[in-house]
Amino acid sequence: MQLFGSSGIRGIVDRELVHLAWEIGLSVGGLYRSVVVGQDTRSSSDAMKYALISGLLCAGCRTYDAGTTPTPVLAYITSDFEAGIMITASHNPPEYNGIKLLNRDGSAFDHAQRNQIEETISEKAFRLSSWKEMEGCRPYPGAIGCYIDRILKDFDQIRIRAVVDSGNGVASLVTPYILEKIGCEVISLNCHPSGYSPRRPEPTEENLAHLAEVVKMAGADIGIAHDGDGDRLAVIDEKGSFIPGDKLMALFARHLGVKRLVTTVDASMAIEELGFEVLRTRVGDSFVSEELRKGGDFGGEPSGCWIFPNISYCPDGIYAAAKVAELASKEKISALVDELPSYPLLRGSILGDRSTMTKLRQRLASISSPPIDTTDGIRLAFEDGWLLVRASGTEPKIRVTAEARSQRRAEELYNLAIKALEECR
Ligand code: MG
Repeated sequence: MQLFGSSGIRGIVDRELVHLAWEIGLSVGGLYRSVVVGQDTRSSSDAMKYALISGLLCAGCRTYDAGTTPTPVLAYITSDFEAGIMITASHNPPEYNGIKLLNRDGSAFDHAQRNQIEETISEKAFRLSSWKEMEGCRPYPGAIGCYIDRILKDFDQIRIRAVVDSGNGVASLVTPYILEKIGCEVISLNCHPSGYSPRRPEPTEENLAHLAEVVKMAGADIGIAHDGDGDRLAVIDEKGSFIPGDKLMALFARHLGVKRLVTTVDASMAIEELGFEVLRTRVGDSFVSEELRKGGDFGGEPSGCWIFPNISYCPDGIYAAAKVAELASKEKISALVDELPSYPLLRGSILGDRSTMTKLRQRLASISSPPIDTTDGIRLAFEDGWLLVRASGTEPKIRVTAEARSQRRAEELYNLAIKALEECR
């Protein structure tokens, strides 16, 4: 039974998902003696959280409720417990919800831990406590304050104007406050933590057109956007242009003076050219985090996940927001982006599943092509560019990425993949 995708458990909220939350609680509660629980701002998050807490308490686990809190905040305070559980569907639409399981250092549960949970649920091997062993759930009200105190230690006063768009997600409660506290003038956009937003929760270029307009109108130095649970950050420069994730990663790495950088197989080849020691993993922040725990100064992926090991091994869009504000206080963000090497990079997707990938692999094996890198999906490296085809971890889609030294070649590689996939469906 496979319950976990690349970012925990996700699904449209229904009876099965709420029941699964209860079973996850029973399973985790039987393995870990103290667990802290947080939730995002979705309308279904209370229902999911109380089902989960019921399971934890039935298993006799000492359970703490941190309330509505961003994922990076929950990850940070999980150091005081044996595990943390976040109720969120991250950047998925509002009808979805999900569960992220966290270790004391903020990293996501690894493969072996996830397997253990899946096995317990599939075999219904739960241990319910007797009534005498059960306790009540304890409130844990200080999570956000504790996190803010830690983050503020890393920053001096910054005098810039920033527009913050939290997509009405849970970062609304933290990012505007932290930026104001370090001296920024903050204009809040979609910062009412209702869970419903005029824009879609994923902080992509197409979803942030309004933020870009507001940045220009307000004469702001920067625009900052989060997803629903605040573990992602996307940035708009002072001219209203979206900064691609690959370039933002390079800006962070340079600003932090990084030597060893961990990123995913779908990030730009420009990263290697900047002189960092680069280690590449499968796509998914949990894989970056896993590798970073073995050693590294900073980790990230182009989707907008940034991991700072000095805080935790969880992607932290809020700390990243303060870091990018610090950067914008030193120089215009657009000028810093212009200094970076840049190659045409195309990203897209078509409908398909893992069987499409199997057929594609067989097809490529039968024709002459460069050696296939299977770290994640199929990656082909050519002299003048590369191509990546992989099944999405959260949706029934096949994602295609192509980068080359010229636009024409990038399009050629991209179209080659799309055509091959269409023939394999
Ligand atoms: Mg997220």
